[in-house]
Amino acid sequence: MIANNLQGVRGRIAQACQASGRRPDSVALLAVSKTFGADAVRQAHAAGQLAFGENYIQEAVDKISALADLPLEWHCIGPIQSNKTRLVAAHFDWAHTVDRLKTAERLSAQRPPHLAPLQVCIQVNIDGGPTKAGVAPADVLALAQQIAALPGLRLRGLMTIPEPAPDFAAACAVHAQTRTLFDALHAQGLALDTLSMGMTADLEAAVHSGSTMVRVGTAIFGRR
Ligand SMILES: *Cc1c(COP(=O)(O)O)cnc(C)c1O
Repeated sequence: MIANNLQGVRGRIAQACQASGRRPDSVALLAVSKTFGADAVRQAHAAGQLAFGENYIQEAVDKISALADLPLEWHCIGPIQSNKTRLVAAHFDWAHTVDRLKTAERLSAQRPPHLAPLQVCIQVNIDGGPTKAGVAPADVLALAQQIAALPGLRLRGLMTIPEPAPDFAAACAVHAQTRTLFDALHAQGLALDTLSMGMTADLEAAVHSGSTMVRVGTAIFGRR
C-alpha cells in the first residue's frame, strides 16, 4: 500500500518534471509522516524512502528514537516554539519553518557540536495567508543574511505553505512568486539550493514553478 503510493507519487513528480523540461532528480521527495506511526515509516523506508517530515516536535522525537536503527533524514516542518528549539536542534537534520531570528539564534546555540550543521529553510508567508506563519517577503533578505552568518546552521532556501488555490494556473502564480524571491536572494549572493514547496494537492504546480523539494503526506500514507 505505502510502497504503491510512493511509486505513484514518484511517478507524479517525474511526469511534472518532464512536462516542464526539468531533470527528474531535480526534485526531492519529503514523505510527511505526521500522525502515522513508526511502522508506516518503516514501510516507506523499505520502499526506498529516506527523508521524512514531521510537524509535532514531541511526536517526532519519539518516532525518531524508535527508528534510530534506520539511516533516515528528519525534517521539521511544523511551527517551532521557543521551548522546542532544543529538541529540534538535537534530533532533526533539517528545519523548514524558521521565520524569526530568535528561533534561528536558539537553534544555532543549541545545535550539538558533534552533529552536522542543521539545514535551514526560511518559511515565507508568500500570499499573506491568514495562518500568519512565515516571514513577509519584504523581510526575507535581511533575515537570510543574518541566518547565513550563524554557526551550527546552514541556510538552504525557502519554504512556503500557500493557501489552497482554485486551479493549476492560480497555484503556479503563487508558487512563481516564491521562485522569484528565491532568485532574488541568489542575485544577492546567497548560495541557496532548496525551494521547499508543493504538497499532495499542488505538487505539479510547485514543480512547474521550480520547487526542489515537495512535502507529501496524504498521497503516501493516506488520510489523517
Ligand atoms: C501536513 C503537511 C504537508 C503534507 O500535506 P499533504 O497534503 O498531506 O501532502 C506538507 N507540508 C506541511 C508543512 C504540512 O504540515
